[in-house]
Amino acid sequence: MCSYLMDSSPEKITAENIINQFNYAIEKYKEKINNLKDFSVKIFTSGSFLDDREVSKEARDYIFKKLSEFDNLKEIAIESRPEFIDEDKLNEIRKYIDINVEIGVGIESFNEEIREKAINKGITNEQIIRVIELAKNYNVGIKAYLLIKPLFITEKEAIEDAIYSANKCIELGCSRISFCPATVHKGSVMEYFWSKNQYRPPFLWSVVEILREVKENNPNALIMCDTSGIGSERGTHNLYGCKCNKLIKEKLEKFTLTQDLSILDIECECKNIWEAYIEVENKNIVPLGDERKLL
Ligand SMILES: [Zn+2]
Repeated sequence: MCSYLMDSSPEKITAENIINQFNYAIEKYKEKINNLKDFSVKIFTSGSFLDDREVSKEARDYIFKKLSEFDNLKEIAIESRPEFIDEDKLNEIRKYIDINVEIGVGIESFNEEIREKAINKGITNEQIIRVIELAKNYNVGIKAYLLIKPLFITEKEAIEDAIYSANKCIELGCSRISFCPATVHKGSVMEYFWSKNQYRPPFLWSVVEILREVKENNPNALIMCDTSGIGSERGTHNLYGCKCNKLIKEKLEKFTLTQDLSILDIECECKNIWEAYIEVENKNIVPLGDERKLL
């Protein structure tokens, strides 16, 4: 389902390139930052910030040192696969940074069969649990990225998987849950199945149900939802073109900011279609595609 390969540079990226990018961003916002009481920095590499092949130690040291010079910096968020999170890397961070640090990890699912066979992620539950425990020793939070509806599972299984996985991550001590409903990217295996109508991105009704269930079970946990691609044919949507798509997207954004469950009380006539789709799909041998092409 991933198309980052297509977005990445064919040329080698040097430490100097990354340091220049960082300095450019800091310079651009310097005046704004200096006028703030406090601020957060989120370093979005769409990869592993702690992987030496992606971001060298030299570049990381530079960035952490530079950030430590801001008195009003409140928190730093980075992303990494778990295999790059070890004692050395955590010590490296804590050498410069004593404020709140959170590492986003693509856990995707806590069902090992789904993570391995449907997502092809290449990491085990054991690795994930070890990293959550290790990060706790350094007072570093782990934000769990969870994928809603990978390939090869039904809508109902996707709902159950997301709820189970989030509950498990919270139980293990993840600092935050960030749901990523699947989007069909160009050149991916998911696109191949989608183009044959053997995959449908999740319904927004499923996303709403997942968020409601997880928040009800864990009122103190921070539950977020990525809303990119929502409403498009390749992204998460209810009945394509229905007016509720835009409305629910706004509500999901509002819920992420406020954590207020009452925002998720939403009704639309197309909810019947979602319910019928789940019922029909469960009588089928393989997952269904777009409901409009089934009629
Ligand atoms: Zn609708």
